[in-house]
Amino acid sequence: MPATFSRSMIQREIGEDHICILTFDRSESAANIFDAPTLKELNEHVDAIESDSEIRGLIITSAKKSIFIAGADLKTLLKQAQNGKIRQFIGEGQRIFNRLAALKIPTCAAIHGACAGGGYELTLTCDYRVASDDPATRIGLPETTLGLIPAWGGATRLPRLIGAERAAKVILTGKLYSAEEALELGLVDEVVPREQLLDAAREKLGQGKRKVEGGIPATPSAGSPALAPPPRDGNPAPARAFSVITTGLTKLIDDSLAMELDAIVELSGSETTQNLIRNFFLSEHYKKGTSKAPVEKVVHAAVVGAGVMGSAIAQWLSSRGVTVILRDVGREQLDHGLAAIEKTYTDAVKRGLMSEEKAKEGRARIVASAFPIELRDVQVVIEAASEKLDVKKAIFRELSAEAGPKAILATNTSALPIGQLAAATTIPDRIVGLHFFNPVSRMKLVEVVVADQTSDETRGRALAFVRQINKLPVVVRDRPGFLVNRVLFPYLLDAVELFESGIGRQEIDQALVDWGMPMGPLRLIDEIGVDIAIDIAETLEKAFGRRDHAPALLQWLRESKMLGRKTGSGFYKYEGKSQRPNDALRSWRRAGVVAGVVDPGPGGGDAAGQPGSTTPATTGHDIMQRLILLMVDEAARCLEEGVVESAEDADYGMILGTGFAPHRGGPLRFADYLGAKKVVDEMERLAQQNEKFAPSELLKKHAREGTKFYEW
Ligand code: NAD
Repeated sequence: MPATFSRSMIQREIGEDHICILTFDRSESAANIFDAPTLKELNEHVDAIESDSEIRGLIITSAKKSIFIAGADLKTLLKQAQNGKIRQFIGEGQRIFNRLAALKIPTCAAIHGACAGGGYELTLTCDYRVASDDPATRIGLPETTLGLIPAWGGATRLPRLIGAERAAKVILTGKLYSAEEALELGLVDEVVPREQLLDAAREKLGQGKRKVEGGIPATPSAGSPALAPPPRDGNPAPARAFSVITTGLTKLIDDSLAMELDAIVELSGSETTQNLIRNFFLSEHYKKGTSKAPVEKVVHAAVVGAGVMGSAIAQWLSSRGVTVILRDVGREQLDHGLAAIEKTYTDAVKRGLMSEEKAKEGRARIVASAFPIELRDVQVVIEAASEKLDVKKAIFRELSAEAGPKAILATNTSALPIGQLAAATTIPDRIVGLHFFNPVSRMKLVEVVVADQTSDETRGRALAFVRQINKLPVVVRDRPGFLVNRVLFPYLLDAVELFESGIGRQEIDQALVDWGMPMGPLRLIDEIGVDIAIDIAETLEKAFGRRDHAPALLQWLRESKMLGRKTGSGFYKYEGKSQRPNDALRSWRRAGVVAGVVDPGPGGGDAAGQPGSTTPATTGHDIMQRLILLMVDEAARCLEEGVVESAEDADYGMILGTGFAPHRGGPLRFADYLGAKKVVDEMERLAQQNEKFAPSELLKKHAREGTKFYEW
């Protein structure tokens, strides 16, 4: 008779063959995670296993449908990072994992489902690892993506198992691998169908303790390509992990574990790491949402307008199982759109992101038509026609007559008032904004724009639809620029003013890249397109005034047909993949179009404070600070005016929509970090020169009362 010892997290069973099976099965949860009580239970099971001389081998497995062990409990971790108790928790984990690694009996992990972080580190204490070939099985060490390092032996045991180069690849990228990929990398020893997992594990135990061949693998040579220094993106964890992997290999296991422990304690105390962990919670929150109401899945949609955005949205929907009617005014426009869709599918297949069969099924879900097609079965219509209020009003009037009684009608407008479109129809309660970002295939954010007339039901269905197609929604109110463009533009436009005042473009862009932005503001204007940037700025300026004024230089660029990347030149000149400063801007400065502008000298305006310059020598920090404070202030205004419902919405929207330095946690989190008083003092100082820096009431209130945007 097998003996079973059940606890709330882990069950221990000893069969007649004297094999002990530890099954992780956290009560009342779909996931297994490691927290302090789970570690304690594991320790007690190890006590029992150590003292039972009859046990011949140990298998560690999970009873969950799609999770082996998802890793350490990040909520606990964040709290401990904040109250300084993390050393104790991680140290205790190391101690228990060391006991498992030291067992005299052979041990094997039988992995099915997500096996990440601490979950995979647990399996590294075993002699063997077998994994199910199920798509749910994903294996890896994602700690560095959260600003941490694998410190339950991951950075110590993995290099000893598969060599430093491969271990660095796994740990520095933080990727989760399929079972087959994991086998290839040596993360597991065998892959079998799920039903054969325990048998395969038993067979491994039959081979006895694993023999370590060849001793400790050599540290890699400095020039090894797989060990190139990790990229600088404000997250110090990959570099720190890299140093533990390489230095740790030259030391005893215990010394390497001590290095892991020191590294995780130091990293977790930093604002950067705590922000990256918070971002993880936010992404989980936005993926799931809070609504419990059942919502009908969308199977039929229509997209009106087959231009840049319409064709990309149609492609995205079709690749996610939704059939799409794609409409435009003529065959030529449709053919253009279909060619773009074809290119996206072909590229996805070429890059191994999609099978040829899936691409074929996706293409077949799109029906293109230049003539009205019956829309009664369509559940969602997304209008992505030209950005002209009259054109859109006419489309909405027609759609509201054609669409079925339950369809919701959405617009992808960047800036037009949704309320005015709703007012043009007979069904204003079913009109909503779904603002996708360009490029659709890469940008996860969709702003769900709620007008005064939009009903709660429409809002709920729009949110569910966005989640259904694997995008992340943030609800915003129908105000010019919604959230993302509104917060971004004062920053972009001030960067142009700084350039006009004589500061070099590379100096401006580099200051922001160094701070953690994915690209500098002037480069970003080139990507958006100078013409589109002016259009958006004009709409915003009407509503919000001076902060959104488009400087004269932008108008000059538009008149000179230097619209940015799409015309090959803007602030920079683009040739293939390379870029260099656009010298034409030097002649603009020389001409002194703007009073007070100086000759930037032979560098073409790429250095400030040159001899003869009237521009005060401005440091990278000053440049960054005034630009970021404009974003902080605008985000605070969005919260103050109810454009977003929470600081989380503002911050997460900016991180997802613009790549706002994730390790800074978003503009409002950054304001909390600096302290509202400092933000307000600095803005008031700048406002003495230029009133656009006058801080919002909400910031001033926080400064006065010593309060923050966040409590956590
Ligand atoms: P685009 O000019 O590339 O495409 C617009 C398409 O709409 C054209 O093919 C045009 O023929 C078609 N069209 C015009 N009138 C129509 C009608 N009555 N019926 C059907 N089709 C019609 O424009 P785009 O860049 O794809 O932008 C589309 C919408 O998306 C705009 O509202 C824009 O503000 C918004 N948007 C654009 C971006 C971007 O980066 N391009 C990003 C977010 C949102």
